[in-house]
Amino acid sequence: MTTQPSSPARYDAIVVGAGLSGLYQLYKLRERGLAVRVIEAGTGVAGTWYWNRYPGARCDSTAECYQYWFSDDLLNEWNWSERFPAQPETERYLNYVADKFELRRDIQFNTRVASTVYDEARGLWTVNTTGGERFEAQFLVMATGGLSSPQIPKFAGYDTFKGQSFHTGRWPHEPVDFTGKRVGIMGTGATGIQVIQTIAPQVGQLTVFQRTPNYAIPMKNPRYDEARMAELRQRYPEMKELVHNTFTGNDYDFGTVTFDELTPAQREARLWEYWHEGSLKFWVGAFGELFADQRVNDYVSEFVRARIRERVKDPVTAEKLCPKDYGFGTRRVPLETNYFEVYNQPNVTLVDTNADPIECFTPTGVRTASGEHALDVMIFATGFDAGTGALTAIDIRGREGLSLRETWARDGVHTWMGLQVHGFPNLFMIMAPLSPAAAFCNVPTCSQQQADWITNCIDYTRQQGRKAIEPSAEAEARWGEHHDELANATLVPKTRSWYMGTNIEGKQHRLLAYVGGASTYRYACDKVAAEGYSESVFS
Ligand code: NAP
Repeated sequence: MTTQPSSPARYDAIVVGAGLSGLYQLYKLRERGLAVRVIEAGTGVAGTWYWNRYPGARCDSTAECYQYWFSDDLLNEWNWSERFPAQPETERYLNYVADKFELRRDIQFNTRVASTVYDEARGLWTVNTTGGERFEAQFLVMATGGLSSPQIPKFAGYDTFKGQSFHTGRWPHEPVDFTGKRVGIMGTGATGIQVIQTIAPQVGQLTVFQRTPNYAIPMKNPRYDEARMAELRQRYPEMKELVHNTFTGNDYDFGTVTFDELTPAQREARLWEYWHEGSLKFWVGAFGELFADQRVNDYVSEFVRARIRERVKDPVTAEKLCPKDYGFGTRRVPLETNYFEVYNQPNVTLVDTNADPIECFTPTGVRTASGEHALDVMIFATGFDAGTGALTAIDIRGREGLSLRETWARDGVHTWMGLQVHGFPNLFMIMAPLSPAAAFCNVPTCSQQQADWITNCIDYTRQQGRKAIEPSAEAEARWGEHHDELANATLVPKTRSWYMGTNIEGKQHRLLAYVGGASTYRYACDKVAAEGYSESVFS
């Protein structure tokens, strides 16, 4: 006798991921009366802020912009302790939200999605987990995060290394003690910089393996007291609107006076003014032209290099830390606190892996062309398979067995506005490729905007009594062309970075995120919705 597999649990919608986007998506769909199940691989909520618990992890967006706007109670109750909160605080905030809105009852933790298949006849997605469970739902929302698939480059001999090793995106929950240890770190992006500046005072010896230096700029991070929170709360109603009307989903935008309208002295003054502001406003506020005009970019790049040279005592080390082969802001600008001063410490060594390449790992460390670097601990701050990695890790099959992984590998990444893909009815994505949320937007702003759009779209489809919605192939192709046209008008594609997919071997080199700006994108999303989802096909 054969046993019948139990029938799958059935929901109106399944959301994959209980990070910032997934929690909000759950709240919104539940508000519209849908039965929703969230499937989450971790043991807790918070996504990025659950996994990236490495030393020094901190938000580069200001607290007041990095939050939910949907509940006045929440806005009134929650007090931020500083301008750029550290990881534990943001994780606490997201746990507070999960408790306050009783979200946990609809979340299944410790469960990883392996595959998902669309049954066109029944209009249902079946979701299979690695543990063998099955779920069914009409709608499927992938809130799997843009930077959630960690990458460790392959090095000869890595398996022989006898020390401890960690990737920052899978940091253990237990504290790691670095006291007196010989620690190596690979990666000097936003993550590596935060780790380096945090652990340098604790470790015995720190060896930084740097392939590309970054134009990191200082973070100004004052504490927020009651008075400051009261001031901010006064501004919340205005900010809630403002963040959706800017280029990057923050509460500031590019200046209106252009580079050419200013005298050299005024340009310098403008840069200093934004520099002292101590946030990413220096990047996306001072001179918007730096993204497309090489002359302006060169000017700002030189300004930032000059600041690095002022802070690093050894001129040879300073030069290694100065980016020279790409322009400021064409890859993600990290914020830092005393990062460059770390290289003035006697226990810190900077290895430029272009000049002194890594040959292999050994049982006791890393060997570069110049010799062995003995290590007790190796930290990989080597980034993620951004945008696509979390989606292609799951075997997603749409109409007629079409595989998302295969169609993207064969035809290049294609999405309609980063929200849906032709051939995959009722599959929605948040922070996916070809939307601003994939890289160029303050995540809470754009992920809330996308989740709101998805909620309305699902509601509309149900109200119309339709089984499914998917974008037309023509609309998707139009979006791709528009995306590329804007991308290629900027300097960003000239630079190697995760924005361009160059950090992953074999990945297509194409700008991942839409550069038209968050406000323009929102307008485009709202327009198609107002026109009855004119770019989509219903079945
Ligand atoms: P990342 O920006 O991709 O940086 C990865 C680093 O690892 C780079 O320095 C890279 O060098 C290096 N690397 C990768 N493979 C290597 C190899 N085979 N050999 C030598 N070096 C190698 O990753 P990330 O720093 O984790 O940051 C990713 C994104 O997460 C950020 O851009 C940001 O959007 C987000 N983030 C935000 C915050 C925040 O808000 N505070 C903090 C951390 C991260 P190359 O540059 O030469 O490739």
